Amino acid sequence: MSNPSVPPPPSSDPEGGSLYLRGLKCRECGRIYDLLPVHVCDFCFGPLEVDYKYETIRAGLSRESIERGPKSLWRYKALLPIVGEPTAGLHAGMTPLVRAERLGKVLGLKNLYIKNDTVNHPTLSFKDRVVAVAINRARELGFKTVACASTGNLANSVSAHAASIGMNCFVFIPHDLEAGKILGNLVYKPTVVSVRGNYDDVNRLCSEIGAEYPWAFVNINIRPYYAEGSKSLAFETAEQLGWKIPDQVVVPIASGSLLTKIWKGFQEFANLGIVKENPLLKVNGAQASGCSPVFQAFQAGRTQFVPVKPKTIAKSLAIGNPADGYYALDVVGRSKGQVEAATDPEIVEGMVLLAETEGIFAETAGGVTVACLKKLAQKKAIRPDDVTVAYITGNGLKTMEALTGFLPEPVGIDPTLTSFRKIVNPS
Ligand SMILES: *Cc1c(COP(=O)(O)O)cnc(C)c1O
Ligand SMILES: [Zn+2]
Repeated sequence: MSNPSVPPPPSSDPEGGSLYLRGLKCRECGRIYDLLPVHVCDFCFGPLEVDYKYETIRAGLSRESIERGPKSLWRYKALLPIVGEPTAGLHAGMTPLVRAERLGKVLGLKNLYIKNDTVNHPTLSFKDRVVAVAINRARELGFKTVACASTGNLANSVSAHAASIGMNCFVFIPHDLEAGKILGNLVYKPTVVSVRGNYDDVNRLCSEIGAEYPWAFVNINIRPYYAEGSKSLAFETAEQLGWKIPDQVVVPIASGSLLTKIWKGFQEFANLGIVKENPLLKVNGAQASGCSPVFQAFQAGRTQFVPVKPKTIAKSLAIGNPADGYYALDVVGRSKGQVEAATDPEIVEGMVLLAETEGIFAETAGGVTVACLKKLAQKKAIRPDDVTVAYITGNGLKTMEALTGFLPEPVGIDPTLTSFRKIVNPS
């Protein structure tokens, strides 16, 4: 039931025609829609995706024009769905691509790279990319309030971005998130709504709330714009590899949007002639065993997944009914990649392995990615010479409880040299 006293959401694109954006296109039937806050096709219920005027973009975009741009994801603005200039989220993206020789040695991979989004700005996860795009688009569309359904990191990023430009903000989270993720919302002073249910319950509730309140739910009604922000991970990877597409990527899957958009980003760069196509590119997915609908479908050779009830320490990936799971399976299949899954102990082991070999402290989702990377290397799905990029999407300081009991205690001494010598040379 919709509330008649609430004004309807903005219904027209205030900027009118865009130089680079064609409209929203249904992924199933191809119908074109105006650039509005809509995300499903009225005719076939397929998801809508941003479509670009690639011929116009091609004429103005080159490696040189990108290199002259800001040191943020906005250097790829021609391929991101905002009409005007960005006024928020100006520093997201351009995170380090780290040559991971020590981790590679352990895994038997000679050309391994870590895309390190644990240091993204401002909230230390890849979600700063998608929110940077969504918040600008929400503003362009005239919204005064931003909101989201989140497994943690998204809420952190929406809260911070809203605070930075003084927008109203509501974030909805499952009640059992990690302390660091909850605090990482509260400090920015949004309304934090803790829902007694899992993420899939939160998401369904938010769809109902969105029908009644004229808010920009970044991952629901403005999802088509939000999702495009993930392409920047592919653009940066290619640029940082010296304008090359890697042979293998390993990507964690929650809703499946990140994985599908990394593929789309590489395709766009190749189609526009910015990089040479790499027909070898395999897109691999990583899930937690305790929430692995996409992995299970892949194993069974199915093109559609069966929703599950999540139970895993990788809470940021705990989506039992992933909105883009079907498309993630499609991308994995078309690129001849694979999907792997990691148990909770393997996730912790992956976090520690990444930290002790590369000095990067990732959250549980990073543990999932490293553990699945290890399995793919062990079964030679990734070969030693393949140029491989693993996407490490969130910071370990937000999920510290996952490591409780798994690390040695500090070595205690008295404040004397004698006491110290004893621990170096115990007799
Ligand atoms: C949200 C999230 C993902 C995956 O995002 P989807 O696009 O929903 O698949 C991966 N890693 C972390 C840390 C996240 O917060
Ligand atoms: Zn359609």
